[in-house]
Amino acid sequence: MTADYPFPEPFGPEYVRPTSEGCPNCPCHTRRVCEAFQWLRAERPTYSDGTPYDKPCPCVRAAAEPVARTVMIELDGILRAVPAQYHRRGFLAGRMVTERIFSAESALLGECPVPVPMGLYRPKDGTDPRLIVIDSAGEKWVMGFTAQHSLQRYRITGWSAVENLPPPAAGCAGSRPRPHNSE
Ligand SMILES: [Zn+2]
Ligand SMILES: [Zn+2]
Repeated sequence: MTADYPFPEPFGPEYVRPTSEGCPNCPCHTRRVCEAFQWLRAERPTYSDGTPYDKPCPCVRAAAEPVARTVMIELDGILRAVPAQYHRRGFLAGRMVTERIFSAESALLGECPVPVPMGLYRPKDGTDPRLIVIDSAGEKWVMGFTAQHSLQRYRITGWSAVENLPPPAAGCAGSRPRPHNSE
C-alpha cells in the first residue's frame, strides 16, 4: 500500500469516526453495534482513500466463541458448580449448555445410554423461581429438562454416574455447614 494520495485529504489522513461513541474493543464499530451484536446491519468505516476497512473485527470473533462459565445446579439435594458454555452466536445463541453430566430417561426407551448436557434458557416473567439458577457471571438461567440423544427425546432425571462430576458445592443439603468465608 502506498501513502500517496491523489489529492489533499481535507479531514486529515486518519479515518474520523462519526459522532457516536466507538466500541472500546475494536476500531471498526460503534459501542452500540457491538453491545447489541448488530454487525450485519452496521456499516464499516473506510480508510481515508475510500477502500473498505476489511480487517476482521475482534468483537465479532470473540462473540463467535462460546464463553466458559459455571452454573450452580441442585439435583437430588446435591448442589454442584457445573461447567457450561454460554453461546452468544450461532444456532445456540442466547443459550447455556452444560457438560454431559446428567442422566436422562424416556418413557418409551428407558434410560438414556449416555450422559446428556443440560440446556439452560433465559428466564421469562412467570418462570417458576424454583427452576432458576445463577451462573458465575451472576446471570439467571432456567434449567431445561429436555435432552436429546439419537433424535430421541429424554427427560433429565439426575446426576449421571460419570467420574468427572464436579464435587458437591459447599452449603448444600447433606454437606456439613461451613463457616462463611473460612480463612
Ligand atoms: Zn467492537
Ligand atoms: Zn468492530
